[in-house]
Amino acid sequence: MDLEYGPEYNEFREEVRSFVKDNEGVNLIGESLRSTARVEWQQTLIDNGYFARSTPKEYGGFGGDIDILKTRIIAEEFAKSSIPKPLGGQGIQMLVPTLLELGTEEQKQAYVKPTLRGEIIWCQGYSEPNSGSDLASLQTKGELDGDEWVINGQKIWTSTAKFAQMCFCLVRTEPDAPKHQGISYLLIPMDTPGIEIRPIKQMTGDADFNEVFFTDVRIPAANIVGKRGEGWKVANATLTHERGSLADPDVMQNRLYALIDLMKSETIDGERVIDKPVFRDRLLRVQ
Ligand SMILES: Cc1cc2nc3c(=O)[nH]c(=O)nc-3n(C[C@H](O)[C@H](O)[C@H](O)COP(=O)(O)OP(=O)(O)OC[C@H]3O[C@@H](n4cnc5c(N)ncnc54)[C@H](O)[C@@H]3O)c2cc1C
Repeated sequence: MDLEYGPEYNEFREEVRSFVKDNEGVNLIGESLRSTARVEWQQTLIDNGYFARSTPKEYGGFGGDIDILKTRIIAEEFAKSSIPKPLGGQGIQMLVPTLLELGTEEQKQAYVKPTLRGEIIWCQGYSEPNSGSDLASLQTKGELDGDEWVINGQKIWTSTAKFAQMCFCLVRTEPDAPKHQGISYLLIPMDTPGIEIRPIKQMTGDADFNEVFFTDVRIPAANIVGKRGEGWKVANATLTHERGSLADPDVMQNRLYALIDLMKSETIDGERVIDKPVFRDRLLRVQ
């Protein structure tokens, strides 16, 4: 069996290596989310086909074919370098593929490109205080009033709500239907009047999660993905992408390389940590 990538892929790897080498000086440490530098870098990655590679051009992607080997090569070469990696997160990894699959043309045009560029940060409004594992029992209410949804209720464990411009949110719109058939999937701008965000402080002192309260929050009726009452289907499409993004081997690889760099730069009693046999042995076990 020939396990070589072959000339086409070897050539592609050289292209990626050369891009990585040319951009080794790019440093975004300290740059806030949505800063011009971050957005420009994200766009550079898209323009070169190193991010959003198979997303159609008309929605802001590179417009290339799906090629798993090329995707692997990009991830491998980026992981070996300290250049900034493409952004991830709930918008890019979960909402964008959901919209490409199930969104309207207007929704794709409005949200996919700015999300890929890192200009819109999203949060996921699924969990509620009494609806976690049994998510379909959720009670946040959405009622249609003319051409607007009026939303009342509470979400919890909403990561990134503090920074988010938008929320993809599950609400009960058909209270008389069986629970899985009474849910709709709405796109809610987080600056809409009536939204209150309360960070949840953890034992560490950090606040990575939030409670989000909705009081008579009004959004356009068109901000629904899929049909009324079919939000469970859309929610599961999103969850498929969430599961795919967990335990990402590229992230693990990046962290391992960062650990090795740290062990090379830190010293104990004047000796590099990586040169100490006991730590070297531990590193090998982690690897
Ligand atoms: C890192 C992280 C980030 C998150 N980010 C978000 C987010 O951005 N947006 C969002 O909406 N949610 C988010 N969540 C919330 C997550 O989806 C909830 O933790 C999940 O819904 C579980 O809900 P719960 O905490 O109420 O647990 P519960 O549902 O109360 O479960 C508690 C325990 O009981 C067990 N259990 C539940 N039902 C049964 C049963 N019938 N039989 C046997 N055992 C059972 C569960 O397995 C669990 O061990 C996040 C969670 C984590 C850990």
